Amino acid sequence: MGKKILIKNAQAIVTCDESDTIYYDADMLVDGPSIVAIGKNIDRPYDETIDAAGKFIYPGLINTHHHFFQTFVRNLRTIDYPNMTVPQWLDKIYRIFQRINGDVIYYSTLTALSDLIKHGCTTAFDHQYCYTTATGDTPVDRQMQAAKELGIRYHAGRGANTLPREQGSTIPENMLETTDKFLRDCERIIGLYHDPEPFSMSRIVMAPCQPMNSYKETFEETVAMARKNRVFMHTHLGEGENETMVQRWGKRTLTWCEDIGFAGPDVWYAHCWELTAEEFERMAKAGTGVSHCPAPAVLGGFPILSIKWLNEIGVNVSLGCDGSATNDSSNLLDSLRMAYTMQCYYSKERRGAISAYDMLKIATVGGAKTLGRTDLGSLSAGKGADLFMVDARSLELTGTEHDPANLLARVGVTGNVFLTMINGRTVYRDGTLQGVDEHRLRAEGEAVCDRVLRQPCEAFHTLF
Ligand SMILES: [Zn+2]
Repeated sequence: MGKKILIKNAQAIVTCDESDTIYYDADMLVDGPSIVAIGKNIDRPYDETIDAAGKFIYPGLINTHHHFFQTFVRNLRTIDYPNMTVPQWLDKIYRIFQRINGDVIYYSTLTALSDLIKHGCTTAFDHQYCYTTATGDTPVDRQMQAAKELGIRYHAGRGANTLPREQGSTIPENMLETTDKFLRDCERIIGLYHDPEPFSMSRIVMAPCQPMNSYKETFEETVAMARKNRVFMHTHLGEGENETMVQRWGKRTLTWCEDIGFAGPDVWYAHCWELTAEEFERMAKAGTGVSHCPAPAVLGGFPILSIKWLNEIGVNVSLGCDGSATNDSSNLLDSLRMAYTMQCYYSKERRGAISAYDMLKIATVGGAKTLGRTDLGSLSAGKGADLFMVDARSLELTGTEHDPANLLARVGVTGNVFLTMINGRTVYRDGTLQGVDEHRLRAEGEAVCDRVLRQPCEAFHTLF
């Protein structure tokens, strides 16, 4: 038995459960990693209380696409994403990526995870495909260390690029890996970090970066190893590569993936803005999920998915903030509102938009389903104690308290939340990350960014 925490007198608890229950003036009892009861005036023994008067409580957000290593490659005058062609953009960012080392991985992960936690995210997936001569095989280990220090659930996507440029990829020579090396490292980190049990804090996902930049055998071997080890799979798909794939293989990317078995309920793709209606119907039938990342779609001027329609045909949709090369922040609450307003923009031509509350469910229930977490995504007895609180009595929220369910996507709470709890432990409260020295970590991270990237790297400063 773990520590019993009684969260008392919450103004509202938005559960996102199957009945869309919202409790008002209610308590929640947490025992160790899980919730044991929600209701009025819970009268059971506890070790500690949290006063939640005036607070709205939500299930922790689940981020299903990101690239933490890009967090120190942001806010650059030299990378003006909306005004660059994709080749110009790739050329610029890869000149910086090649210099990344293990310390950049560690501190940029801490930075991204802090942003996520402070904005209500409790489970983070990362697609780590930056393997340089300087990082070696250490990135997932360094990320696991950072996630553990901050206390967030972490699903590490072990990425890879194996195809050389002369065969059509966009990856520089010194960031390529062989399929064998990738598989060996996957085996190592699955053994070290993959915990399939309920309330697991760390899992591994096999995630070759994208079909265009790897040999076919990299994906085929991934399917074999992932299914054998029962780990999930992920990749980028439908973000402008189809023309190349058709030229190279005579088929579109989704068909290419389906033909080798890289599809199904244990697989999800990022983006998918290039897919046809018929392709989405195939994804729904196969149970393959999509991580919708609103920021790169808006900033790059790409098509916006119709989430209402995807919900109707049964595609599992989740939310991702994506890496800083296309979204300079890791604020998933911000992505939540951005995604909602984008759906509203098309509401007249698309027979309406999903509700603000349904967008919250995409970021909670949808994320849990995508990552295979039946223990997470909503608040009810037996589920993981992953939640965040918003101070409903803040002056800027005056006049909103009648509808906590729609508040986040509609009104928008883009400042820091009041409290974030993960696995029954308060990891962030009232402006402070618990158990770490934020000042020291920030100073160390800034020094690493300066020494490894900002100072020596011309692409940080020089326009073309
Ligand atoms: Zn991405």
